[in-house]
Amino acid sequence: MEGRDPVSDEVRKALSAQPLWTGEYFNEGTDDREWFDKLREECGVFGVWNHPEASSLCYYGLHALQHRGQESAGICTSHEREFQYHRGMGLVKEVFDQARLDQLPGSAAIAHVRYSTAGESKLANAQPLVFKYRDGDLGIATNGNIVNAPEIRKELEAGGSIFQTTSDTEVVAHLVARSKAPTLVEAVKESLAKLNGAFAFLFMTNDKLIAALDPHGLRPFVIGKLGDAWVFSSETCAFDAVGAEYLRDVRPGELLVFDEHGVTEDRFVEEGQQRAICSMEYIYFARPDSDIDSVNIHSARKRMGKRLAMESFVDADVVTGVPDSSISAAIGFAEQTGIPYELGLIKNRYTGRTFIQPSQELREQGVKMKLSAVRKVVEGKRVLMIDDSIVRGTTSRRIVNLLREAGAVEVHVRITSPPFQNPCFYGIDTPTRGELIASSKSVEEIRQLINADSLHFLSKDGLLDSIGRGDAAMSRGFCTACFDNKYPTLSEEKLQTLTGCGGC
Ligand code: SF4
Repeated sequence: MEGRDPVSDEVRKALSAQPLWTGEYFNEGTDDREWFDKLREECGVFGVWNHPEASSLCYYGLHALQHRGQESAGICTSHEREFQYHRGMGLVKEVFDQARLDQLPGSAAIAHVRYSTAGESKLANAQPLVFKYRDGDLGIATNGNIVNAPEIRKELEAGGSIFQTTSDTEVVAHLVARSKAPTLVEAVKESLAKLNGAFAFLFMTNDKLIAALDPHGLRPFVIGKLGDAWVFSSETCAFDAVGAEYLRDVRPGELLVFDEHGVTEDRFVEEGQQRAICSMEYIYFARPDSDIDSVNIHSARKRMGKRLAMESFVDADVVTGVPDSSISAAIGFAEQTGIPYELGLIKNRYTGRTFIQPSQELREQGVKMKLSAVRKVVEGKRVLMIDDSIVRGTTSRRIVNLLREAGAVEVHVRITSPPFQNPCFYGIDTPTRGELIASSKSVEEIRQLINADSLHFLSKDGLLDSIGRGDAAMSRGFCTACFDNKYPTLSEEKLQTLTGCGGC
C-alpha cells in the first residue's frame, strides 16, 4: 500500500465496520428525499478477472460500494465463454442470495450498483448491460455520465440503431457494434474517444475484460490484486472487503485489457490531459476508509475540519458533525481548537425501507425517523455543527432547528466545501442552478435562511490544500466545477446548451 495516507489498520477496520455510509440516507421513501436534501452519487462498479469465485467476490465488492447506488444491482459472469447474469431492483442483499450466486459461475465478472441520473430508474437500465455483437457477447458496467450521449444517440438512431434502454451505456454499445475497427479492443478505443464526460468503464467479452477511465479521470477507479486475480473497483474500500491489495488508480485516458495472455496497458486518447478527479468524492461521496490517488478520505476530511477551524474559528462548547460524512471533519475541527467533539446528532440506522411515512401533521409535531439531536449533549450549549455541503438549504435549516429544539443556545454552522453554486454534468444528481441556494444567495442570506448564528464555507484553496495538491509527478488535479463553474470538458458553447445560460 505504498504511498497511502498513514491510517492505522485498526482505524481502517473500525471505519469499514460502520454500516453503509452516506448512501444509506436515501432511497428509503419520500421522507428521506425530503429530509436529506443531499447530492447523490450515480453508480459503483466492481470487476474480477481470473478468480474461480468471481461472482461471490463481486457480491462482497458491491456490498462495500452500496453507498454509491441503491436502486439496482447486477453481476455478469463469463464461464466457458458463456455469459450468465442477474440484475434486480433494490439493495445488493435484496437482489442476490446464495442460490443466485450459485447460478453465476465463472472466473471473470463485472458488477454494478446504480442510482440513476441519466435514464429512468427501471430494471431495463440496471447494469451490467449485456449485448450480442458480431464476435460474441459484450457486457458493460459504467460509473459516470456521458455529456454528449444525447447527440450521439440521435446520430445513431438516424443511422438505423434501435435502443432498448434510456441508458448512456447502450449508446456506447451501439458505437462499438457499428465500428469498422478490426478488433473489439480497437472498436472500444474508437468509441471511447468520441465521448465527452466522466466515465469509468468495465467491458467484458467471452475472453477479455477491459477497464477504461475518461481522459480527465473525473471518477475514481482503482486496480488491485488478489493472489493471481485482478480486481477493479470504484473505491478501495471494496478491496479491503474482499482482501485484495490495492495496486494503483487507473490513469486518465487509460485502457487496460486482460485476457489469456495477461494484461496490456493501452490508451484511447493521447497523454497530457490534466487529471480532474471530482473533489466532491473527497468531501462527501466516497467512504472514509477509501483512498483516492493515495489520499485517505477520512484523513482528508479531518484536514478539512482543521482548516475550517483556522479559517473561521468561533468559540463553542461542543463540536458535532452531521452523520456520517461530516464526522471526520468534526473530529479535525475539535483537534485543532481543543473544543470537545461530541455526538450531538444521531442517525437512526435501522429504519430500513420505510413505507409508512409520517403525515405532514405528525411531522410538524416532531415525528422524526432519520436523525435526532442528543438533548443531554447539546442542551444549554453553544454548538459548532459541521456539514459537508448546502444544496437547497432545507436540510441545514432542519438540522439547525433540531439542535435548537434540543436546547442548544447557539448553533454555528461550518461547511467543508465552498458554496455549491453550479449543477454537475458528470454523474452526480444535482438540482438545477436555480434551486441551488448558493447560486443566488449570499453567505449572510443563507445563514439567516438556515437559522444559524454564524455560517462559514471552506475556501477552495482550503479544500484543495486539505485533500493535498500532490506533486507534479502525480499530476493530481481536481474538478471543482460545482463551486467555480470551470467544467474540465465543457466549452462555453456546450455549457450554454446544457444550462440555458453561460453560467452567469
Ligand atoms: Fe464533482 Fe462537482 Fe465536478 Fe460534478 S461538478 S464532478 S460534483 S466536482
